[in-house]
Amino acid sequence: MSRSLPVQVLVIGGGINGAGIARDLALRGVRCALVERREFGSGTSWASSGMIHGGLRYLQQDPQVTLHSCVDSGAIQRIAPHLVFRIPFVMPVFPEDPIGPELIEVGLEMYDRYQPLKNGRPHTRLSREQARRLEPALSPGIECAFTLDEWGVDAARLTAANALDAAERGAALRTHTEVVELLRESGSGRVLGAELRDRITGETLRVEAELTMNATGPWAPRLAALAGAEVRLRPAKGIHLVFERRVSNLAIYARGIDGRDMFTFPHEQNSMAGTTDDDFYGDLDQIEVTEDEVAYVMQAMQRSIPSIRRHRVIHTTQGVRPTLYGFGQNEDELSRDFAVIDHARDGAPGFFTIAGGKLAAYRLMAERASDRLCGMLGVREPCRTAVTPLPGGDGRLDVLALARRFRAPVPAVVRLGFRHGTEAARVLAPFEPGPGASAAPPAPRIVCSCEPVLEAELAHAARREGVRTLGDCAFRVRLGVGACQGAGCAGQAAGLLADALDWSAERSAAEVAAFAAERWRSAAPALGGRHLAAFEIHRHVFLAARGFTGGSEVER
Ligand SMILES: Cc1cc2nc3c(=O)[nH]c(=O)nc-3n(C[C@H](O)[C@H](O)[C@H](O)COP(=O)(O)OP(=O)(O)OC[C@H]3O[C@@H](n4cnc5c(N)ncnc54)[C@H](O)[C@@H]3O)c2cc1C
Repeated sequence: MSRSLPVQVLVIGGGINGAGIARDLALRGVRCALVERREFGSGTSWASSGMIHGGLRYLQQDPQVTLHSCVDSGAIQRIAPHLVFRIPFVMPVFPEDPIGPELIEVGLEMYDRYQPLKNGRPHTRLSREQARRLEPALSPGIECAFTLDEWGVDAARLTAANALDAAERGAALRTHTEVVELLRESGSGRVLGAELRDRITGETLRVEAELTMNATGPWAPRLAALAGAEVRLRPAKGIHLVFERRVSNLAIYARGIDGRDMFTFPHEQNSMAGTTDDDFYGDLDQIEVTEDEVAYVMQAMQRSIPSIRRHRVIHTTQGVRPTLYGFGQNEDELSRDFAVIDHARDGAPGFFTIAGGKLAAYRLMAERASDRLCGMLGVREPCRTAVTPLPGGDGRLDVLALARRFRAPVPAVVRLGFRHGTEAARVLAPFEPGPGASAAPPAPRIVCSCEPVLEAELAHAARREGVRTLGDCAFRVRLGVGACQGAGCAGQAAGLLADALDWSAERSAAEVAAFAAERWRSAAPALGGRHLAAFEIHRHVFLAARGFTGGSEVER
């Protein structure tokens, strides 16, 4: 993006909604720019449960949300089959539960009608014995159980895939770049673009745009205020606990002490448990997980899975839902619907906000928002995001053949294929063995063995995907989010990025320190006793012993 480049649409905020809108517009031939103040998908989108589900509980008060999410889940599965995974759920029923199995089954029968939209199977009712045979982690105290079918996605990767595809189709992207001011036309108050500041270099830029879309999720009121406009949200904080490995085969419903539904679910290489839903009016840039929240989630999980405390929590996630404003309702009764707001109503024509909604319906939300923008621009191209595959989503990958061809470890190629789909061969291309044995480059090595992440994928992220910091790699390729929490891989990964991005030794060391500090911030609330000791030993063996600690950032 250059100082003088005028665009038709400036999209502010590189979460799933901003990235989805940028892709939709780019596919319709609209010249647009997408700016994100940190890394793509690192806000609420990363903090989500990553479920592209219909939301059984919205069926009662918000059936259109369930419908939209199920329809869009089906579409996301079509355009990004590599990024999604089936999550079968089991819902235990306890004798003391306020709602008995008969009534629950009525709800599930209704939900079954939506299942075909998202390739889900209908529910089944299981006796206690059947349920415990299927999922031995379940409490022996249950009366019976039900199964239901949902889908998960790597939300941060889905976001990046949308942004990268938008760029392929002509959009200008910028991460670590914050909108600090909106450009206004004197007199009319029309928004004409924005003033940006690069948070790494300090450089300032100006983007002139015919229309500006505020897609900053929970930050939307703050951004809108720059134009004197109002966006009313009811921001709600949610956290998850992330376990070192799978704690169960299936996802398992759990009930909180206050009667709220939560669940633990297999997600990528780990299991996650959550989530909470609490009004939040604090600093969106400093969302901390409290010990109370950890205890609340653990207590709920323990009822369904008595052995849960034997499993190690390696980190937490935290985020704030950009829920539409509602007064007088409990947080989890609020509508998950969305709105596209034209701020002409606030005296700021040319400026729009998208707010509310769900990850599961992001594509549909982006379509509606883009329809509005295209209508204003006089662009008649129809939306093509439901039928145009995201990068890597255009076919099936033969993982074993690829691993053989590049002499790469199969588990790492499986994960590479998950993130990149059919593009995985492009990621590995620099490691293609030449015709003569002596010309063959070394086989690709694993940098982060928890995930696992290959050197080739990191190099690709830096050279081809525009990754700018080591921290970006946690979101982009899941570097350091497994058991070692970066202790085993941050140093080596920083070396690789330094080569690709021409970092100095000081910059590399600072990147490792910042990465370690961020991993610590995310892990600390859930650590105690021997788990805390294990974390500290790991950190000191791998980081301090190599001279990476010393800054107060990595100290508790
Ligand atoms: C705990 C939790 C669990 C959830 N689980 C699910 C689920 O399982 N399924 C589901 O469908 N939905 C779920 N959701 C909801 C879903 O995550 C959100 O609806 C969605 O991620 C919102 O995306 P967004 O793009 O609007 O916001 P964000 O992802 O927050 O993106 C906004 C971006 O704007 C950037 N930004 C802010 N200010 C500026 C600025 N001045 N300049 C440039 N950039 C800026 C931020 O850095 C951020 O990256 C969950 C939410 C939470 C909190």
